[in-house]
Formats: sequence, structure tokens, C-alpha cells
Amino acid sequence: MQVAYLGLGAMGRPMAANLAARWPTLVWNRTAAVSRDHQAAHGSVAVDELGALPPVDVVCSCLPTDVEVAAIAQVVAPTLSPGTVWVDHTSGDPSGSRDVAALLAAHDVGYLDAPVPGGTSGAEAGTLSVMVGGELTDLEMVRPILETVASRIVHVGPVGSGMAVKAVNNALLATSLWAAAEGMTALTAAGVDPDAALSVIGSSSGRSFATEELLPQRVLTRAFPRTFALALLAKDVRLARGVLADAGVEARVLGLVDALTTDAAAELGDADHVELVRLVERAVGVEIASLE
Ligand code: NDP
Repeated sequence: MQVAYLGLGAMGRPMAANLAARWPTLVWNRTAAVSRDHQAAHGSVAVDELGALPPVDVVCSCLPTDVEVAAIAQVVAPTLSPGTVWVDHTSGDPSGSRDVAALLAAHDVGYLDAPVPGGTSGAEAGTLSVMVGGELTDLEMVRPILETVASRIVHVGPVGSGMAVKAVNNALLATSLWAAAEGMTALTAAGVDPDAALSVIGSSSGRSFATEELLPQRVLTRAFPRTFALALLAKDVRLARGVLADAGVEARVLGLVDALTTDAAAELGDADHVELVRLVERAVGVEIASLE
């Protein structure tokens, strides 16, 4: 199968590299130097003009939001052959993904929303999970492509469902990260060894991805690598509030997490998502650092 990958950011770059190792893969990026570097490093073929995309079987996209996907789909859709399937790995708004699906359907192009938890490490290893919304026949057609980038592929419902699950998942991540930051800052201020506390919480009922991986690997070490922008996490929590609102669920917890995360993103600029922990630490004047 011929693949085109649109958007070579922190997630798109390694995903497209894994695809290029197995399939003929065209790559496009808004900043063209990035796609040319990708071609040189991974054997993909860089395309400069979106409106002149050679014929492909599958289009993959990974852009900040559904808004950028919609803008690009307007340009690309008329050039695609009927029967092409578009796999959108963006974490976007479910209703925006339904609009993109309708735009593509007018050109007989299928659409799957297929956001990808697993982070940049999962993207590099080809072990992402994929939450797929859309037609099962489209999923079966692109399954070999998805299996190149992911080890777990779950169909969760019609178009938009994958985006909804991803938004709620990331809202849960934000919630547990804020809670872990507060709890661990308090324990550190009280004189508890943070390594020991996280170690025992890791085998207790309060454990989460934040306590098992993010705090031990990125906060105790003070490494704070930039892998997933805080602004993108704030966007996901906002999208989750939309999912709750559409279902008539009052966002008593997620409303607060939304406000906290939005304010933190405004304050910290282009910081990584885990750096929100610094705000809690600063307010108290302690650091959750390894004692070793
Ligand atoms: P990055 O910020 O690293 O990359 C964004 C990409 O989108 C770049 O290729 C950028 O191009 C492109 N882009 C930005 N604005 C536009 C525009 N107006 N038109 C065209 N292209 C544009 O993002 P990530 O790769 O981290 O995230 C991409 C998506 O994946 C987001 O929806 C995010 O929420 C989701 N995600 C991210 C994860 C992570 O750990 N990072 C994990 C799972 C999902 P340029 O190079 O020109 O700036």
C-alpha cells in the first residue's frame, strides 16, 4: 500500500519513520525542511505541495487539532482517488472529525478517527494503542498500516468515538497528574522520602500513570523532557468537557481540572505537560526530587 503521512511533529515523525521502513511513504509537513530531513533520515519521500499529492491508498494525519486537519482536507480531498481511506491520528474534537468525514465522503474517501495514546516513546517503538472510530470495512483495509505503528487497535464506535475516548483519557491523565503533584508535594514538605512514597504508592490503590511513570522518570530526576506540550493537554481537557456537555454530564471535577490546566498552559508557555508539577511545587517552596 502507498501511504501519505501529513504532519511530522513529535508524534508524526517517528510514526512516519516506522511506516517508511515497511511501506512506500510520502511525507508532508508545514515546515518543509522537516519533511526533507525525514526523507534523508528514513527513506520516505518528501512532498512540498499538498495539492499535488501523488495517488495513495491511505492518508495519515497527526496535527494539533481537527481545525488544521479540516483545512488540509479541503486542499487534499479533491486530489484523492475514490476508495482512499484517511486515518486521522490527531487528538481532536469529535464533531470536527465528523465534519472532516463528511467532506471526504463527498469524494468517496473513507475516514477513521484514530487517536493514539502511548506518547513519543510508543510512537518510536511502534507500540502505540489506537482508538478507532468509523466504518469497520475502512478499518480492515488500513489494519496492516495501523499494525505497523501500534500494538493495540480497538474499534470504539462510529466516527468521532475515537476522539471522544482520547479526550476523556487525557482528561483523566491531567486529573491524576494534578492530584499526584499535590499529594507528592505535601509528602515531600512533610519530610517523606519521595522515592519511597512513589515506590509504595506504585503497588497500592492510588497508583496511576502519573505516579508509576511520569513522576519517577521525569520529576524525581528533574529531567522534564519535552514530549507532549502542556497546551495540547489543556486542549484535550477542554475537548473532554465538550464530550461531557454533549452527554449532559456536569463537569464538577473536570471543570476544575480544565481551569487549572488552561491557566497553567497560559503561564508556562511552550512547557511540557509534566511541568505543571512545578507550579504546585513553587507555591509550597519544595521540589519533589530524588534524595539519592
Ligand atoms: P507537535 O506540536 O510536536 O507537532 C505539530 C505538527 O502539526 C507539526 O508537524 C506542525 O508543523 C503541524 N502544524 C501545526 N500547525 C499547523 C497548521 N496550521 N497547518 C499545518 N500543520 C500544522 O505535536 P504532537 O506531534 O505532539 O501532537 C500532534 C497531535 O497528536 C496532537 O493532537 C496531540 O494532542 C496528539 N498527541 C500527542 C502526543 C505526544 O506525546 N506528543 C501523544 C498522543 C497524541 P510545523 O513543523 O510546521 O510546526
